[in-house]
Amino acid sequence: MGVPAAQRREELKAVWQQASTCTRCPQLAATRQSVVFGSGNADADLMFVGEAPGAREDEQGLPFVGQAGRLLDQLLEEIGLQRADVFVVNTLKCRPPGNRDPLPQEIDNCQDYLFRQLELIQPKVVCSLGNFATKLLRGDPATGITRLHGREEVRTIGPRTLRLYPIFHPAAALYTPAMLETLRADFRRLPELLGLDAPPQPEPEEAEPVVPEPELASAVGEPGGPAAEAPDDSQLGLF
Ligand code: URA
Repeated sequence: MGVPAAQRREELKAVWQQASTCTRCPQLAATRQSVVFGSGNADADLMFVGEAPGAREDEQGLPFVGQAGRLLDQLLEEIGLQRADVFVVNTLKCRPPGNRDPLPQEIDNCQDYLFRQLELIQPKVVCSLGNFATKLLRGDPATGITRLHGREEVRTIGPRTLRLYPIFHPAAALYTPAMLETLRADFRRLPELLGLDAPPQPEPEEAEPVVPEPELASAVGEPGGPAAEAPDDSQLGLF
């Protein structure tokens, strides 16, 4: 028996709480307005992974709320889905200043949050949008989205096996009509992929017995300790 959805959702909130005060990337922590953790249905079969928040996302604390987000909504609608049916996250949870590309160290620092999101939401299909998410989730920095888009593959990422489906990033398609048509065609295959059985899951690893070490625990509000006050999880959109 898997972990019930309600429990996974609670654990996801705890990961959000941890991410909301993250300072692993000092520059991003100093310049961001929000940590954009992700939003949508925390038990969705379909998850989208973008690149990083832009200015609008940073202001509102939600992913894909600008122009690229409107295109994402439109493409979802064309296949009979809405945001409330899916979960949307980014590779980086903080906006790179001036919308520069994410740095390798930042991707490295942030990847645990994404892997925990995959583990706790348990999507059947993960659509990586563009190069950054695709390269991270495939563990192959050499092969880009132009070669890979529209081809699903079964991948084991952390403790989950899922169907990874790389497609172009909507922001890249906004001003390039040919790319938009390719993105639309790739989107049209999503209902078929969602209709397939979920791939078999790997055997869970034996849990190590947990030895409590009270003297190492940080106090409430201290670095590494629980936050003094829970962050406002209304940022989690449709949770
Ligand atoms: N582009 C992204 O990759 N993510 C967003 O949230 C917005 C634009």
